[in-house]
Amino acid sequence: GSDSDPHLRRGPRGYPLLPGGYGRSTYYTGAPSPYAIRGEGYRVWDDRGRELIDVNNNFTSLIHGNAHPEITEAAIKALSSGASWGIPNRYEWAAAELFLLRLPGLDQVRFTNSGTEAVMSAIRIARASTGRDRVLVTKGGYHGTSEVALVPGGPSYTRGVPQGVIDDVTAVPLNDVEFLVQAVEAAPETYAAIILDLLPNRAGLLHITEEFVRTARDLATRYGIVLIIDEVISLRLGFRGLSGEYGIVPDLLTAGKLIGGGLPVGAVAGKGELMAEVDPTRPGSLPHGGTFSGNPVSMAAGAVAMRLLTEQEIQRLNRLGDAARETVNARVQGVGWEIRGRGSLLRAVPAGAQKVEERIQHRLWWASYERGLLPSPANLLSLSTPMDDKVVAEIADRLGDAVLAVAESSPQ
Ligand code: PMP
Repeated sequence: GSDSDPHLRRGPRGYPLLPGGYGRSTYYTGAPSPYAIRGEGYRVWDDRGRELIDVNNNFTSLIHGNAHPEITEAAIKALSSGASWGIPNRYEWAAAELFLLRLPGLDQVRFTNSGTEAVMSAIRIARASTGRDRVLVTKGGYHGTSEVALVPGGPSYTRGVPQGVIDDVTAVPLNDVEFLVQAVEAAPETYAAIILDLLPNRAGLLHITEEFVRTARDLATRYGIVLIIDEVISLRLGFRGLSGEYGIVPDLLTAGKLIGGGLPVGAVAGKGELMAEVDPTRPGSLPHGGTFSGNPVSMAAGAVAMRLLTEQEIQRLNRLGDAARETVNARVQGVGWEIRGRGSLLRAVPAGAQKVEERIQHRLWWASYERGLLPSPANLLSLSTPMDDKVVAEIADRLGDAVLAVAESSPQ
């Protein structure tokens, strides 16, 4: 009933306790959302009595699914010795070692509490080390909610962002090599950083071409610009992340999501010369803190999550994702939809679309939900290691049904 529905519960002045009834704007699906009661493996149960296959996985964080026994045990063990301390803990080194093992060419890491913070820190390090302000991004890219990171989203994302911040960002159309070269060469000495997401989700999981990435790497090297690759989502696609698959070593790499085993986390890793900017033994180093950065619970859970994510598991998940994409594409191509992505990341979009109307995204979310499938509100799907061929075939089935239902009700 509405009395007990937390979305509708109001304070004494009539306001819902959470703006719009939501604790995160990214939950929004156009209508009051079900809420989660419990999860186990690839399944989630909600307050409406539904059992769902979880392909949202908290926006790709839960690569080992819900309540993975070993991760849960590690988190509880760490928590029972104290939630966090004001001196270092041994789990930070364990997590750092497992993380850097995946990133040959990068020497050091600082953990943060989110991907947003990791990107903020990376930009700060780049600006401090170069003594320059300008940051180059790709149009439509998403790098969290810091001021600089909001600029590539365009005017609807930058209300409240100072004009000076907006003016310091150059947004280049994805894969437009000529534009990229001209933008940098017009004033190379002004650029602190180039930030790339190699599989940008907000842009519709479009692939970045090898040529675009290589050109960015070459320009950065030639002009002393810091190349930041944002692997907050894409790290899962290869043992060395997606930059490893491209054979590119960035100067700084940002990560988050899965490396915390489902607990709050972010990370900025980089070459020793750059990471020296946050080395507190050096006079004048940048402040990098965060009361909960490197907390033992996130670090312990994350270390187990990274240890369990072997090369074999990554390849198995990628193959399952490729098979699902192929199956669903064969069913939906005739109705003007397509499944994009790579490996274990999939996204359903109207064929060829650069930008998907929110109304259409939400319609597909509800069509999926009604079929027992839980994607992200933008219909990003990620697979998790508890899944096998049979479950992924079921996911493909339900996703195909949902897309066909939406295509029928709103022809393109
Ligand atoms: N960068 C990318 C590429 C992301 O996809 C996200 C979040 N989805 C972020 C940064 C921000 O991470 P967080 O939500 O942990 O702040």
